[in-house]
Amino acid sequence: MHLSEILTHLGEDRHRYFEAVAPPVIQTSNFAFRSLDEFRKAVSEELEHHVYTRGNNPTVEILRKKLAALEGTEDALVLGSGSAAVAVAVLSQVQQGDHIVCVQKPYSWTWKLLGKWLPRFGVETTFVDGRETARFEAALRPNTRLIYLESPNSLTFELQDLEAVARLARSRGIVTAIDNSHCSPVFQNPAAFGIDIVIHSGTKYLNGHSDVVNGVICASKKIIRSIFENEFMTLGAIISPHDAWLILRGLRTLELRMQRSDASARKVAGFLKGHPRVRQVLHPLMPDFPQYELARKQMRGSGGLFSFLLDVDTLEAAERFFANLNRFLLAVSWGGYESLVLPSAAFYKIPGKPDTPLPFQLVRLYIGLEDPDWLIEDLAQALDRM
Ligand SMILES: *Cc1c(COP(=O)(O)O)cnc(C)c1O
Repeated sequence: MHLSEILTHLGEDRHRYFEAVAPPVIQTSNFAFRSLDEFRKAVSEELEHHVYTRGNNPTVEILRKKLAALEGTEDALVLGSGSAAVAVAVLSQVQQGDHIVCVQKPYSWTWKLLGKWLPRFGVETTFVDGRETARFEAALRPNTRLIYLESPNSLTFELQDLEAVARLARSRGIVTAIDNSHCSPVFQNPAAFGIDIVIHSGTKYLNGHSDVVNGVICASKKIIRSIFENEFMTLGAIISPHDAWLILRGLRTLELRMQRSDASARKVAGFLKGHPRVRQVLHPLMPDFPQYELARKQMRGSGGLFSFLLDVDTLEAAERFFANLNRFLLAVSWGGYESLVLPSAAFYKIPGKPDTPLPFQLVRLYIGLEDPDWLIEDLAQALDRM
């Protein structure tokens, strides 16, 4: 289906709400039935009917339809955060005694779930360097139930070969899941390579305005129905209809925003690459990136996120760079309209904690919707004054 059809019309049934162009926010906790028969029918298949907003709400349902179509899967669920989506998706596939293989350096709270939390319940995870598919194969055990991917990851951008990992997993009857937040569905569709479960932090690009936290799970009808009836309804980590409405509004401009951020990020990365105070630029779609060919095969773009290394030898010099930036906000997260800078130096000198193993020269930039030349001016003056 054409992206324009999905973002503009799909899932919207305007006859049901006065031909309103923008859908209504159905801000209700529950739904009443006209007859006992209708009531019975609805509770027998709650995913397809409106019974209670912890299950299926009509405003959220429009969003679910669009998200499933964006990823090319049969169905989707929306949750209260990306971390809730990761946790619910993972919990749906494992039980006590099972084993997971996960790419190394996943998102921090995913690492906490798999590395620290699930072992308490008898589920073990092996973390592997995902740049080589053979590492996944070598880590498999008879009780491996899930392979968990994040391609690229959102700090140093290592990729996994989605088609090869999916083929390996299918040949062994193992489910695959991926965190696809970096690319958004505009630039990468893992289901097309055979990945079973596609997860997003919709807080980032999908909503795109830095004002809603949410998460998404896209998969087959069979997987989604099972997750809905078990983990989703039990854990209750939903979003409000109003937040779903804001994400629907954000989606109207998803393609435009992705294209703008992607083009601007390439321009800014190009500027930094030639700068004498920059040691290295890490951007998966720059030709000197080690996995450039694989990135070109799997990704239609990369969006606004990339990293670089400052050419400095002391933390103090790096600190001067951040102190002099005026047009980038110092902040975590990404995917909104505003450009952000995340220094690994922010994870140094924290009382009671060891410094991050990442070099203090590492800087992650998120390029938002501003004029890239205006952003380059700011970077240029801060690099000169370092
Ligand atoms: C932000 C993020 C998450 C977590 O999403 P929240 O919406 O913040 O809970 C998961 N994965 C990646 C790659 C992220 O960047």
